Amino acid sequence: MALHEQSQLTSRSDELRLRALERAPGGVHSNVRLRGPHPFIRSAKGAWLFDADGRDYVDYLLGQGPNFLGHAPDAVVHAVFDACRSGLVYGGQHELEVEAAELVCEVTGWPDMVRFSTSGTEAVQAALRLARAATGRTEIIRFQGHYHGWLDNILTAERDGAWGVASQGQVAAHLGESHILPWNDADLLAAEFERYGDRLAAVIMEPIMINAGVIEPRTGYLEKVRDLCTKHGVVLIFDEVISGFRIGLGGAVQRYGVTPDLATYGKAFAGGFPVAAVVGRGDLMSRLGTGEVNHSGTFNSSVMAMAAVRATLRELRDETPYVRVDEHGRALMAGLLDVAARHDVPLRVAGLPAAFHVSFGDAEVTDYKSLQQLDLARYEQLAGALVDNGIWLTGRGVWYVSAAHGAHELEVALNRFDETLGEWKLKVR
Ligand code: PLP
Repeated sequence: MALHEQSQLTSRSDELRLRALERAPGGVHSNVRLRGPHPFIRSAKGAWLFDADGRDYVDYLLGQGPNFLGHAPDAVVHAVFDACRSGLVYGGQHELEVEAAELVCEVTGWPDMVRFSTSGTEAVQAALRLARAATGRTEIIRFQGHYHGWLDNILTAERDGAWGVASQGQVAAHLGESHILPWNDADLLAAEFERYGDRLAAVIMEPIMINAGVIEPRTGYLEKVRDLCTKHGVVLIFDEVISGFRIGLGGAVQRYGVTPDLATYGKAFAGGFPVAAVVGRGDLMSRLGTGEVNHSGTFNSSVMAMAAVRATLRELRDETPYVRVDEHGRALMAGLLDVAARHDVPLRVAGLPAAFHVSFGDAEVTDYKSLQQLDLARYEQLAGALVDNGIWLTGRGVWYVSAAHGAHELEVALNRFDETLGEWKLKVR
């Protein structure tokens, strides 16, 4: 860093950001973080983040979901530290991974088998490969606005009304096997099945579209998808990387009563540690076991990962934080609307208490396209101001609640929201 730059630095975060920009593209290690927030974090505990300059934040981003028990939950951190004293990666099997897999099946209540991986992106790839192997077909249906990881065959974006690659360097042909449909429209899906049903290997979806707008499936939609898949021999994959263990122990499967053939989990089931899984029906999953279908990874089911999953699932099963999370989420959603009404600001708050979406405007939102009717850009501005005033969020509107958020956090968050709205309204006028 040049000397004149150093002398102009106003904060430790600024200083770290300049250093980061020198050595990491964009100053970040995941493109999702390019849009901020940019204050550097020094530590985190429970529902709170503390930055390098001593400011605190009530955290409603929660690492994009993993910190469902709050940051650094004691039970999980201690379990991982204890387990890791006996080794980290064995290149062989161990008891913890058996227990972790048993627990996943027990608490979710429906899958027969589990394969662990280190990221949701990988778990999705394993699910797609299994579906293709089992059906002998290659094409898939996926939906506009659903995120399933950053790899070539699954990353999409909308440009000028058309859906296709989201990144330079992404091979467009790798999306050639994908039918990218609007979500939540059963007739449209049925028509697609009518035409292409015998070519389809899988339908993959977030059963509740948390990544774009936290939109719930219409009544009967998941049942219809299930029926179509069964009728046409197509593998139904629920990507529950966010919804799994967040909206209940059994995720969307439990909430909506529709069981897929395969599902992917991640984030909330490991207390903040990097673990994901593909789970599902034994006859599909067992293809990984015969070696017919490859799924590998040096760090899959590491001691750290398995200790984290076991400790987190025991906590979720035995302490049942879901009621607490829902209460906080509900009170927060109502409180935000209340504050906004007092400021005469047309805030929109929608979704579930454990994950909800905040924006401006008023529209019936059922899919990605209708979500765009809201004033998302205006919310992004507000989110920046909220971070400046001590509420940790990104600009895309999703708020996550953890088991560590309580009455104190609610009061602080609503006060800070109130102050921010007041200041922000003056600025944008
Ligand atoms: N699937 C969904 C629904 C996600 O939200 C994400 C990440 O946010 C992924 C898959 C990819 O997971 P990861 O970032 O762990 O690779």
